[in-house]
Amino acid sequence: MKICIDAGHGGKDPGAVAFDLKEKDANLDIALKIQDILKRSQFEVYMTRKEDITLPLYERADIINAQNCDICISIHNNGAVKEEAFGSEVIYPAGSSKGKELGELILDNLGKLGLKKRRVFNRLNSKGKDYYYIIRNVNALSIIIEGAFVTNKKDNELLKNDEFRTKMANAISQGIIKFTQKYFNKPQKHWAEDNFQRLKDENLVYGEHDLNSNITWGEFATVIARLLDKEKN
Ligand SMILES: [Zn+2]
Repeated sequence: MKICIDAGHGGKDPGAVAFDLKEKDANLDIALKIQDILKRSQFEVYMTRKEDITLPLYERADIINAQNCDICISIHNNGAVKEEAFGSEVIYPAGSSKGKELGELILDNLGKLGLKKRRVFNRLNSKGKDYYYIIRNVNALSIIIEGAFVTNKKDNELLKNDEFRTKMANAISQGIIKFTQKYFNKPQKHWAEDNFQRLKDENLVYGEHDLNSNITWGEFATVIARLLDKEKN
């Protein structure tokens, strides 16, 4: 199971630019954060770029195909002439029900962050092929995520916020993980699974928990209190 993360634009190509933010920088940061999360979840991850370099689309497609990835996620953020436009979109390959499903899983998660769920869609060129180069030329199932609008003041503020970019990366990663668990029949072992099992064996925690979700102070205090009780006995 190998996933390619493609940070859109870079180098001489900034992508959308507004309110002192270049799309290429937000894309790269979110892509690197996704890489971290997926690697911690035992995925093999390949990045088309890890720094601010110019990378033409045909080169991207070539290197993605050479890597034999199962899924390719291209990370973008949107730009529009009208400043009012805001929210998230995902583009999937025409005729790909799996691509649509992956896009919907991710868009749902982005929506939970308060981003407007605009649409999951595909677009064709005049020859009836997929309009977007990466989607048309990459062999792996590839989707393009337009996280938020660089050109919208409110979305832009969110994109400038490191903590929010982490949340976006997590939302996208969780969508990918859910999808791969369904279709690649390879439930990924979480890096902390063994530790969690130890806590369960010692009756310090009960039931199933999402290992990537936050715990509250109340839950934390309860686990520590159980541990202290154990020490006493
Ligand atoms: Zn873009």
